Amino acid sequence: MPEHRIDLLARFPWLKEVLRSRAWQPAGALFTLACFVLAISAGLLGTPAGARNFGIIFVWIVWWALLIIGLVPLFGRLWCAICPIPAPGEWFQRRGIIRRSPGRLRGLGLRWPGRLRNIWLQNLGFLLVALFSAIILTRPAATGWVLMGLLLVGTLFGMAFGQRVFCRYVCPVGGFIGLYALLAPVELRVRDREVCRAHASKDCLTGTARSYGCPWLVYPGTLRRNAYCGLCAECLRACPQDNIALNLRPFGADLLVAGERRLDEAYKAFIMLGCALLYSAVLLGPWGWLKNLANMQSLAGWAGYAAGFLAVALVAIPGVFWLATGLARRISGAAAPMRRLFVDYAYGLVPLGLAGWIAFSLSFVLVNGSYALAVVSDPFGWGWDLLGTAHASWRPWLTGFIPALQVLLLLAGLAISITVTYRIACQEQGAAFTGRAWWGTLPIAGFMTGVTVLFLRLYLG
Ligand code: SF4
Ligand code: SF4
Repeated sequence: MPEHRIDLLARFPWLKEVLRSRAWQPAGALFTLACFVLAISAGLLGTPAGARNFGIIFVWIVWWALLIIGLVPLFGRLWCAICPIPAPGEWFQRRGIIRRSPGRLRGLGLRWPGRLRNIWLQNLGFLLVALFSAIILTRPAATGWVLMGLLLVGTLFGMAFGQRVFCRYVCPVGGFIGLYALLAPVELRVRDREVCRAHASKDCLTGTARSYGCPWLVYPGTLRRNAYCGLCAECLRACPQDNIALNLRPFGADLLVAGERRLDEAYKAFIMLGCALLYSAVLLGPWGWLKNLANMQSLAGWAGYAAGFLAVALVAIPGVFWLATGLARRISGAAAPMRRLFVDYAYGLVPLGLAGWIAFSLSFVLVNGSYALAVVSDPFGWGWDLLGTAHASWRPWLTGFIPALQVLLLLAGLAISITVTYRIACQEQGAAFTGRAWWGTLPIAGFMTGVTVLFLRLYLG
């Protein structure tokens, strides 16, 4: 086992029993599916006033806050284990919800094309949603259609391609969860790789009488990063060698796994950072004209906005980062090819990107979170009062602390990003050349500081 790991399953046997049970995952997915169906129904049939509609408040305030502020930074892909989007397709494949049905998985068994075995589709999907976000985030019907589309596509993919092909290669939410899961202080890994190597039957891949083979098409024996492990615990149920661990580990450990860094993931880091900046400018900034463009007041105006949005996320940010990488390579005398350095250093942006998203989210979650009390009693805005909270008044929480929290988060994100970049530079240069690694870090740290200043200007004015 790598250093600085605490095996939670060895420490807490009850946790192992809970995770080995076949019930917790379907129970979670059934609950989230019920919320999802309610959000779709409220979006399509309920009041068009976003602040009074369950679809808007529970998806974009409650779920989003739970995901980006809690679940992903702390538990990686845990959400994916109970996500409702692929659940019906998975239940179809398995011919059941809880117990392990005998025989092979059901479905068309189509092969996912080799050229699409990456997250480029997820990158495009996220950008597509981002371009329409001003509309989706404020109009319940738009939210309802998007959620319904995701559920339908997730189910059809489960029936056609099997396993979690949709989650791994298509879902726009899954892409960024995978990226930020690299930071989480929890990981599922094997205890001893040698045990796996010697174990011929590989039950974690083939499945057993009480478990399925890894739905995420991952082999735990060589798993080194959280990006594509859906924390479903099937391998824990399968492994007869008791070789699966759930480790507590240092925050961001996966960012330092050399040899598995990829251009599609690097672009995900740019896109997420760019979108956090652009969302902050559009939704929180003082520019009414920009909001009008994003809100599609005219098609031509929106087309210009979309072109600008894509240019910033896909060209300007990676372009400036490419220049910073070129400078870093030159002044540090790194021998690595430019493309590899560009990809490797991009992983340093992940902590800052997450900090930017959390800072952005705080500004509307704390301001609008109290609407959740009212809509839980009256999800459609039809005048119901199911839990007696329908008339709870809107009350922003901790608004006086939001700017200070944002500053702290962004500075912490910047500090972690620079530290990660330095450690990546050390990997490039070798342990004997830490001085050169500092030179390699400097231009990238300059880029990160510039981005942080932009965030702070947007939040503090
Ligand atoms: S079943 Fe267990 S020991 Fe065997 S390969 Fe899988 S994780 Fe390793
Ligand atoms: S590695 Fe294990 S926990 Fe992770 S997705 Fe595969 S079966 Fe599930």
